[in-house]
Amino acid sequence: MRVGIGYDVHRLVEGRRLVLGGETIPFEKGLLGHSDADVLVHAVCDAILGAAGLGDIGLFFPDHDPQFKDIDSLVLLDRTMEMARERGFTLINVDSTVLAQAPKLSPYREAMRNNLGRTLHIDPKRITIKATTTEGLGMIGAGEGMAAMCVVLLEER
Ligand code: MG
Repeated sequence: MRVGIGYDVHRLVEGRRLVLGGETIPFEKGLLGHSDADVLVHAVCDAILGAAGLGDIGLFFPDHDPQFKDIDSLVLLDRTMEMARERGFTLINVDSTVLAQAPKLSPYREAMRNNLGRTLHIDPKRITIKATTTEGLGMIGAGEGMAAMCVVLLEER
């Protein structure tokens, strides 16, 4: 068994689509980044890469590479899991938390879970997506950005 941790932060800006867990969520701002800036999916990628001993997302999908400009981060997640699978790992479960002051994410939780399950080829029941505000504190509380953290467990065949 191999455990991995992932953490990511993106800035919230006007004029960008908000994409979390592969879902487009109606909101006045979106996350800024080279890809679609899906902070949750990036944290999951990093957790998988960490558990597999492969490194981090920036190593495989650098934010200066034009081929990843505005890319759907689920494509990156698919490639990440493929790399772990090629090295003999299967995914047992994913536990994650999104830190965002707004909007309320519970209406999108099942859709995000299904997106991750479909991309990772595991039962969505093995995926947990939790959400919390920071009670108005700090940069997340001020609505300047969002963060996500994730833990995964891989099994080596
Ligand atoms: Mg990121």
